[in-house]
Amino acid sequence: MEENIIARAEALRREVEAVCRKTGRDPAEITVLAATKVQTAERVRAVLNFVDACGENRVQEFCEKYDAGAYTGKPVHFIGHLQTNKVKFLVGRCDLIHSVDSPRLAKAVSDRAEMLGLVQDILAELNIGRDENKTGCLPEDLPELLSAIRALPGVRLRGLMCVPPKGTPEETAPWFAKTREIYEKYAPEWGFDILSMGMSGDWAAAIREGSTLIRVGTGIFGARM
Ligand SMILES: *Cc1c(COP(=O)(O)O)cnc(C)c1O
Repeated sequence: MEENIIARAEALRREVEAVCRKTGRDPAEITVLAATKVQTAERVRAVLNFVDACGENRVQEFCEKYDAGAYTGKPVHFIGHLQTNKVKFLVGRCDLIHSVDSPRLAKAVSDRAEMLGLVQDILAELNIGRDENKTGCLPEDLPELLSAIRALPGVRLRGLMCVPPKGTPEETAPWFAKTREIYEKYAPEWGFDILSMGMSGDWAAAIREGSTLIRVGTGIFGARM
């Protein structure tokens, strides 16, 4: 079982390098994040050497695996929907929160970070496909979110994250391109360095469109039960 996970993670690394070579990207620019939702601490530990970071979706799962030492030695990110009342479990423990999508949530993260005397790295999550079933900030609300974040001393905004509507890589590529455009627009002013987009089914398209961080679950661990 662990052998399969390792083999898939190694294969993914090689494929990422191949796609980068073909598209003129530097593989060193791409962070490969293992999306570890549902996986046991043991399975997470098995892939640590082959990925750059782990990402959890649920606060409780994050806490359990964090306490079990599942991520030791690698950065761990939070990539799922986050409620303000759960912020306290993450700030200062997780390296990057991808899912900040409202001024209220940004303020909760900043307040907690200030209380702990640190600055929390975050991404703004965009609902680029205007999907009603998805969280994330609508593109037209991004300026308001950014100006709220600018006034918050406890957070550092590193870039953007998106989860486009489900589709083939051909269908998701335009959403990635749109997100990249918005990213580029703000990058110089903010010093952005992380564009989090691409999952198991479409990470190659995301890299072609400028992603710097891909989040891969199934492609490493196999289908989730
Ligand atoms: C589960 C998840 C992923 C990984 O999805 P796969 O299709 O299994 O690679 C990536 N990003 C987020 C936000 C997720 O929730």
